[in-house]
Amino acid sequence: MPRRNILDRLRAGDVLVHDGATGTELEARGIACAPPAWSAAANLEAPSALRTIQDDYLRAGADIITANNYCTGPSALNQIREAARWREYSQAGLDIALSARDAINPNAYVAGGISTYPVPGSIFGQEYTDRTRLLADGGADFILAEYLPTVSDCVAAAEACADIDLPLFIGVGRLNRDGNLDDGTPPETLVSALQGYRVDGLLAMCTFPPAVSKWLPRLRDSFPGFIGAYAHGGWKEPDNTRWAEEPNFDPGNPSYTPESYADYAHTWKEMGAQIIGGCCGTRPSHIAALPAAVR
Ligand SMILES: [Zn+2]
Repeated sequence: MPRRNILDRLRAGDVLVHDGATGTELEARGIACAPPAWSAAANLEAPSALRTIQDDYLRAGADIITANNYCTGPSALNQIREAARWREYSQAGLDIALSARDAINPNAYVAGGISTYPVPGSIFGQEYTDRTRLLADGGADFILAEYLPTVSDCVAAAEACADIDLPLFIGVGRLNRDGNLDDGTPPETLVSALQGYRVDGLLAMCTFPPAVSKWLPRLRDSFPGFIGAYAHGGWKEPDNTRWAEEPNFDPGNPSYTPESYADYAHTWKEMGAQIIGGCCGTRPSHIAALPAAVR
């Protein structure tokens, strides 16, 4: 039987567990993810390690894994003189995720992840459209436009994905301590700016769990689509650290235990979140604690 469309599952009220970190998990397992293209190199240089991580998340109970295409665009790869091979990097990342899914849990979903990281001055437009087109044509179940910290970035991503015939979820990155966008913009303003665009879900990501708890109720009250979160697990001294700075970031020693992270996840589910997973510093042990906490 074919997988149910993810939107049908969400409309039915299901809560889906998203995977945890990929980039920091590669690092935690000793795979070099050197800047500037960070996790992209693993698609061609460490495919078995990447596959094992995705297998581990699926075995931990993830209903969604994200293809490792965070940094596989031409602008990111141009920084390591590999721009001409961006399709090869991108296809490899997608294929590894699809093969993991098909082997471990054919009912799980593969998110076509895409970000503009680490290119200064975000790259959207045709490049972004070409990248999402590759993910859609290659079999991703939905597009996950990640690490978008501003209203204009979220709108630009929605515009670039307008003709992609897959559900679109936006990962809003780097909330501030008050549960607003990084520049202080409230979630209600973001929702207003996205009216008229087809955006199926808004997920808080790459941010700090307490900020997610402040953001979600306001998002729930203003946004008619699906909501969710995948937050950081690995800040050692979070209360002394602005999230945009990472001096205490230690992916091998997350400050949030699986149990403490699951407590947050349960709270988010009570707030209406239907996709819940982890970002930097979360590991398969964190994801394994989620199914019991969110269902
Ligand atoms: Zn992150």
